[in-house]
Order: sequence, then C-alpha cells, then structure tokens
Amino acid sequence: MFTKTLGIGIAALALAACGSPSSSGGTSPSAASTLTVVAGFYPLAYAAEQVGGGQVAITTLASPGVEPHDLELTPAQVVQIREADLVIYIPGLQPAVDEAIADVDPSHVIDATAGLTLLPTPGDAESGATATDPHVWLDPLNMSAIGQTVESRLAALNVQGGEAFAARQAIFAAKLGALDSSWKAGTTTCASHDLVVSHEAFGYLANRYGFTQIGLSGISPDAEPDPATLAKVAEFVKAHSVRTIYSEALVDPKVVTVLAQETGARTAVLDPIEGIPAGSNATYLTLMEANLAAVTEGQPCP
Ligand SMILES: [Zn+2]
Repeated sequence: MFTKTLGIGIAALALAACGSPSSSGGTSPSAASTLTVVAGFYPLAYAAEQVGGGQVAITTLASPGVEPHDLELTPAQVVQIREADLVIYIPGLQPAVDEAIADVDPSHVIDATAGLTLLPTPGDAESGATATDPHVWLDPLNMSAIGQTVESRLAALNVQGGEAFAARQAIFAAKLGALDSSWKAGTTTCASHDLVVSHEAFGYLANRYGFTQIGLSGISPDAEPDPATLAKVAEFVKAHSVRTIYSEALVDPKVVTVLAQETGARTAVLDPIEGIPAGSNATYLTLMEANLAAVTEGQPCP
C-alpha cells in the first residue's frame, strides 16, 4: 500500500510529465462529474440511459406504470427541471412539462423531436387543427435519431465523456436497426394493414411499416370514445374483416372488449411504451418485440 507521501509524489511527477494540470487525466472536474438528466417519461429516460450509461443520473418525471399524458408536476419536480444539466421532453405530450420548460435556459433542454419528420395528429384533417403527433418513439429509427441527439448534447456538456457516449450510441443504434429489420421482415406478409387501436399512439409505427391506424379514443389514452366514433369503427371492423382490436397495458380495455364482442374481432395488447410497470423487467426493446409478435399474430402476418 502507498503511503500518503508517496501518493503525492506520484501525482507531482505526473503533473510535471504532462506539463499542464488540465491534461493530468481523471482528476479534472468534468471527467469525474455525473450529468443530471431529467426525462419527461420512460422512452426518453431509456434513450438517455442507453447513451449516457454510468455518466448520467436520470430522473423520470412520470412514475413507473402511470400513463404520462396528464402528468402533474410536484413543486420538487419543477425544481429538478430547473436544476438539471439536461431536460429531455417531447413538446405536446405532457402539457405540465411544456409549461415548466418554458422557464428553462434552452441550452439545458433537449426537444427529442428535433430533426424528426413529424406527422399530423390523427383526426386533424377533419378538425382543422395543426398539432403534430407526439408518439415518435414507436418508430425504432426515430428512437435511434433521439439517441443521436442525446449523444451530441451530452458530449457538448462533458467533452471527456464524448467517446464513451459515441460508443454507446453506436451499440444502441445497432440494436434499433436490428429491431427495424425484424419489423420490416415480420410485416411484409400481413393479411390486413388496418391497425385498429384504442389509443392513437401508433401513427409513426404504422407509417414506417405500411399500416393504417384506425383509433378509438384519440391521442390521449383515457379519453372516452364518443358513440359516433365507436359506431364508425365498428362499421369499419365489420366491412374490412378486421381480425384484431388492440388495447394497451396501462389503460382499462373495456371499450375494446365491448367493440370486439359486437364485431366478432379478437383483442390483443399493443403497448405504446409510455411507461413500464413497477417491478417489470421489460424495456423498450423487449416491448417492441412483443408488439411485433402481437401484430404478426393479430393481422395476421404468416
Ligand atoms: Zn400516448
């Protein structure tokens, strides 16, 4: 074991050899520091964790297993948002987060949709509204782009960590590329390309793999569908011989069950991956694989 005196001697030698204190390695504040990242909800926390690894400490604002759209922030969470090195969010998904972020310096904010091709909110063609659909993460290639954005922003804050962030992002992008290939290969032979879902979260997924999304309750999962929409979808299901109506894990499937009984369709779970139930080992990747299995069985895609 080194004595204290010997340790100091070695440090002094290292300093002398390197010529400048900032290049002595491992001891400069930015190399040793952990960046604090606040994520609006699970998929963004997942991207930050995949890219940031042990160099980031992540807080997720939406609790595990809770539907994030109507999140309300505690005063402590508002403080976390103000003090974080980076806040990652999707505009238009969580109004409370949008509001809190309005007060934060943009240099600490990542809009996860930056650089993505955004789709209009389902139903907007009829209503005349112009909002964009926030559910970008359900397209694996969008998720890869989000990882890229997170990587460049983390690297800008921690230059010494740059190579590690880039290496992790390369691994993350490769996993998402493989997921995209599985989806492409798995959905080429589907008997039906009509995807009837309770919550219209699957617009980007549908767009990527050639499906048409038919939704019951709009982009917020707990909105009760109105009777006219329900009747229209029931009519569509019968007319197009839709085999499966998809509901989701975090929301009561009763409307879907009633519709299935009325139309003779079966029900299955398609997870919008907005949160992970507490205690679950599931991840974005395992849930996207489960979603693919549900779709290939439900459409079906032999
Ligand atoms: Zn949603």
